[in-house]
Parts: sequence; C-alpha cells; structure tokens
Amino acid sequence: MSDAAPQGFDTLQIHAGARPDPATGARQIPIYQTTAYVFRDADHAAALFNLSEVGYIYSRLTNPTVSALAERIAALEGGVGAVCCSSGHAAQLMALFPLMQPGCNVVASSRLYGGTIQQFTNTIRKFGWSAKFVDFDDLAAVEAAVDDNTRAIFCESIANPGGYITDIPAVAKVANKVGLPLIVDNTTGTPYLCQPLKLGATLVVHSTTKYLTGNGTVTGGCVVDGGTFDWSTSGKFPSLSEPEPAYHGIKFHEALGGMAFTFHSIAIGLRDLGMTMNPQAAHYTLMGIETLSLRMARHVENAQKVAEWLEKHPKVEKVTYAGLDSSPYKHRVATVCPKGAGGLFTVSLKAGYEGCVKLVSDLQLFSHVANLGDTRSLVIHPASTTHRQLSDEQQAAAGVSPNTVRLSIGIEDVADIIADLEQALAKG
Ligand code: PLP
Repeated sequence: MSDAAPQGFDTLQIHAGARPDPATGARQIPIYQTTAYVFRDADHAAALFNLSEVGYIYSRLTNPTVSALAERIAALEGGVGAVCCSSGHAAQLMALFPLMQPGCNVVASSRLYGGTIQQFTNTIRKFGWSAKFVDFDDLAAVEAAVDDNTRAIFCESIANPGGYITDIPAVAKVANKVGLPLIVDNTTGTPYLCQPLKLGATLVVHSTTKYLTGNGTVTGGCVVDGGTFDWSTSGKFPSLSEPEPAYHGIKFHEALGGMAFTFHSIAIGLRDLGMTMNPQAAHYTLMGIETLSLRMARHVENAQKVAEWLEKHPKVEKVTYAGLDSSPYKHRVATVCPKGAGGLFTVSLKAGYEGCVKLVSDLQLFSHVANLGDTRSLVIHPASTTHRQLSDEQQAAAGVSPNTVRLSIGIEDVADIIADLEQALAKG
C-alpha cells in the first residue's frame, strides 16, 4: 500500500505497525520473546547507542512486538510517536518525567480516576513534584492555578467514574495561552471516540489495560506525542531543550525535533525507570485493538440504552451518562467524542450506601471487579474501593458519593444487561 494513501480508522487498527515478519513472512506480528538483539558489528552497536541509527538494543528500551503496538496507537491517535509501558499509571509517570524537575507542579482536573488522584497527591511528592487539582469546567480557575513552576496541564477525556466529558478544545486554548503542554488521559475515550491531539492536546496517555486490549487480560500503558509542542523556547523543559547529562549531553529537541519527547522517553525514561511493557502484553493488546471500533460502537450503543432505562427506574436517583439529555455534558459529545459518550457512567441509588452494596452483590451477569473497559459488564462501588483513599472533598469533586456505583457496560446483549439490573434492583 502507498505510504501516501490516507487510511481509515478501521484499516489502521488492523494494519498500522504491522508488516510481514522480515525473517519468516509471518502475517501476524510475532511475539519477539527476546531480551537482546545481536549487533552487526561494533560500529552498528555504537550507532544504536548514539541514537544515530534506529534499531533494537535491549528489550527494556524497545522490542519489535511492543514497537508495533506503539506505532499502531500513535497512528490511531494521530501522533508522531508513542512509548508503551507496563501500566496506565506507568504511562502517567512517563508522560511527566521529561517535563518535570523537583519543585515543579502539574495542574490537574479534580475529575480523575481515584488512583491517579492518589498518585498525584502523594506519590509524586517523593520526586519533589506536586499537583494542583482544579474543576476543569472553570477555565479561569485552571489558568489561575498555573504558576512559574507549572510544567503541564492534565485531564481525562471522559472522566472515570462519572463519564464527564472535558471540554478539551477549551482547556487546550488555556494551555496554549500559558505555553504549557496539555496531557489528556484518553483511556475511557479511546481514539475511536475521542482524538485529543486533534483537539489541541500535546500528549495522550492510555491505560491499555482497558478498552484498547478490551478483554481484561493484561495491564499496559502508552504515551503518545503529537509532535507539535516546541520544547525549546520557554526554557522550562531543560531535559528536552538543553544538553541532557543522562545521555552524553544530547539536546533532544535539537537532534530529534518532533520525535524529541518519544526518544527521551525511550532512551532515558524506559532505560532508567524501567516501566517497560513486555511483548506478551503487547501481543494481547494488538489482538484487542484490531476490533476496537466494533467494540466501542457496541459499548456506546449498550451504555446509551442502559442509561436511559436506569434513569426511568423508580429506585434510581441519578445517572451521569453524558449521552443522556439530562446530562450537563451532553452538548460536548459532538465536539469532544463525536462517535459517542463511552461505556462508563455512575448511577446513584435512593437506597444509599446499603442499596449500592446490595446491588453490587445481587448482580449476576455483571462482574464485581476493579476494572473497566472489558467486553464484559463490570460494576464497582467507588467510595469503598477505587476512590476509598481520597478525602470526602476529593471524592465529591471526582463525582463519587456513598450512594454511587460505577457501571462499565459491556458488549453483551443489551436485553440481558438490563434484565440483570432489573432483577438486582428488584431485590433492593
Ligand atoms: N487512567 C484511567 C482513566 C483509569 O481508569 C486507570 C485505571 O483504572 C488508569 C489510568 C491506570 O491504569 P492501570 O491500571 O493500567 O495502571
């Protein structure tokens, strides 16, 4: 196929990053289960270490199966490069790592996955970094939170758990005005529903554990770079613009232009932090991504029907699905995620905390697990699990209350999903 031919999403999700194996002609991408790669000679080895030639050195840095996945996700997101890592949480650290120094902060949305709020509130402090949490519906507050030490702005496209949609173009405008990169966690949106780089984001992060793999088999993460941010002018990103002592003084931005972030992430991030994705995990995710568009369309269709049904149920107080007319975020679907509002939302029950705990245990088709984005329908009670370590204020800001359960609607027959909810609610 011609390199110049623009390819559609459904084609890219199968073909991007894939080419017949040069050694065997294998049509499917082999699982390159190897730690190291034989150098042709000493000059070849030196050129690879010098980054003057691209190739494989050691699987903590790169591996052909993992690289194929990175190329595929970059193609689907419209990025110039990507780096895969061992989990979504690893991807978040990898995204911040080239940007931050001790004393720097990230301005983050208060509506994030509970684990990310935890990671940003406490764990990153050990690196001397910090986070300021802001309601991203209040753009003036986002801008006001930025100070001289801010190095990034961070949000989720469709926020976990409530399915709230962030106004990415508006937040990108603020980021642009203050000269900072916008990082969007697109785990729940997926590039099928939402393409943050096209909406003005700088970097996209994923937990590939969720919809991209789609079947609950492996953990993984990915950082995608749009390749458009100029890291060199503000002096705020010395790891990318100045001689990098961790890599014999190379100036990544000068040497690699739009690929600076990706190469830094591999050559230093993966090399020194070691949060590498393994080739088996990449294989499962590559298999999953081949059907991403089909699954996401069905997740959206089912979530819409289930949300509409739940909203009318007498025991239900509120449903947060952004595809509902009652949602304050409905108007953002067309611009931010035009193919639908995702498969994730919360439902609040009039019966309160006890009613939620009972619903979770009375559901039969739904699996009670700490995961989302599986083909199967999943349920969890965030206040006692994923968001448990957060303060009451943080929980409320994230859209979590004691009478809220999170549903990740699967791709089963929707009548069966609704029947399961009906029987469980009848017992409450
Ligand atoms: N981002 C979002 C939106 C998530 O829901 C999760 C996990 O639930 C993560 C990131 C972290 O991903 P992982 O569990 O792969 O580390």
